[in-house]
Amino acid sequence: MSKKENILIIGAGLCGSLLALRLAQRGYNITLVEKRPDLRKIEQDAGRSINLALSDRGLRGLRLAGVEEAAKKLCIPMQGRMIHHENGKTFLTRYSGRSHEHINSVSRPGLNMLLLDACEKMPNVKLLFNMGCEEVDLKAASASFTDHTTGDKVQLSGDLLFGTDGAGSAVRKSMFLSRDFLFSFSQNWLTHGYKEITIPAAEGGGFRTDKDALHIWPRGEDMLIALPNLDGSFTVTLFLPFSDSDYCFDNLTTPAMVMKYFKKEYPDAVQLMPNLVEEFFENPTGPLGTIKCSPWSCYGKTLLMGDAAHAIVPFYGQGMNASFEDVVVFDEVLEQYEGNWPKIFSEYENVRKKDTDAIADLAVDNFHEMKEHTASDLFQEKRRLELQFETEFPSEYNSKYSLVTFNENIPYSEAMKRGRAQDKAILNLLQDGKLPDSLSLHEKLEKVKKETSEILHDD
Ligand code: FAD
Repeated sequence: MSKKENILIIGAGLCGSLLALRLAQRGYNITLVEKRPDLRKIEQDAGRSINLALSDRGLRGLRLAGVEEAAKKLCIPMQGRMIHHENGKTFLTRYSGRSHEHINSVSRPGLNMLLLDACEKMPNVKLLFNMGCEEVDLKAASASFTDHTTGDKVQLSGDLLFGTDGAGSAVRKSMFLSRDFLFSFSQNWLTHGYKEITIPAAEGGGFRTDKDALHIWPRGEDMLIALPNLDGSFTVTLFLPFSDSDYCFDNLTTPAMVMKYFKKEYPDAVQLMPNLVEEFFENPTGPLGTIKCSPWSCYGKTLLMGDAAHAIVPFYGQGMNASFEDVVVFDEVLEQYEGNWPKIFSEYENVRKKDTDAIADLAVDNFHEMKEHTASDLFQEKRRLELQFETEFPSEYNSKYSLVTFNENIPYSEAMKRGRAQDKAILNLLQDGKLPDSLSLHEKLEKVKKETSEILHDD
């Protein structure tokens, strides 16, 4: 079979633009269609998460398409979590005991622009903006669009159609509405929403707080986090219940209430956010949800990827990373079965779905860990021990966080299984006083390994 099929990709966000680039590199003719204007030409909406944590799985996807080094120029390495206590004290918990392991803060539009620029350099990629997909003819790999510039209806088709149109996917909706096959779909919302606020750069362009960390203000029910940007600013995200809480989006309705809440919960952060009140009321409040669905493809013609197939909550910093990893996994399956699209699509889902289900569940776990446990003594003791294991015995131990974030060769489902068992093992041993100081670090590690394998065996 020739490699020259025409592929219509709907959604030129992070996943769609990387997918387009990779498939073009493989010789396919790509039409990449995006609902929004070309983000390289206009200023984007305020309040859309403007930076993201990029880690090894995502970098692997960028490497595959030859853009890793260019992307790294947009990155600020973050070595660990900087925890901000209510009393203003801070402490840094490193992400890993291995010094080379860190995550990166990267600009969402910056990375998207880089990928679009790379796509544009390919003679076999056509980019179309301002074209919102309305409906898909799944069997025909054809879709109807509204051209937002002219208001016209436009029909585009390919030999194959990929839906990378994000969590609210129109392609997925067409699959959901199809009566010709059974389509399973679940959407679970958290009771919390999010809102973004800015810590501007200091006068003269410096950072107002430590730039080498992801900052967290854990407060049990709610939480603030901040990631650095190259221009010296930080993007701060507030995670707060929508309702039914002393402080929630429903009752923070006046500037005075917003200031009272922030001064009480995040006094050190308030000083860094001069536009807090304006931004609180100007910026949108976003919901946070998990979407799972199946099948991801139909008729050997249409396939969902990225958030369109598996949107997750952002607490492991893995949504984009997983979407980039989708491209890597898809590329491997494509290499194996090139020419047989029905097989490629079904095998891809077969290999991949258990892993995206796993990261979806891990991300919800991490939501509770970040807001409730990161500041607790037991959690900190566990992290200290894990960091010591990773530092002293780097080839013998990986925490759950390391397995998920820095071990791109271990599938998410495996990372989840091993990581959860380890967590349980260490917490059990610590709580039962079975890791006393009289033991050497290696003896402690052996105990943790033994307990972990017993837990894995019982499961
Ligand atoms: P998107 O990036 O949403 O792209 C979809 C594209 O399709 C968009 O350009 C959209 O305009 C377009 N589109 C939508 N509908 C249509 C249509 N009908 N027709 C044509 N085009 C359409 N992930 C991480 O890895 N690390 C993080 O730190 C992180 N932080 C996050 C923080 C927050 C608050 C949120 C909400 C998410 C975060 N994520 C993070 C997740 C990450 O943003 C997503 O997983 C990632 O953007 C998925 O990429 P995508 O291309 O599948 O979808």
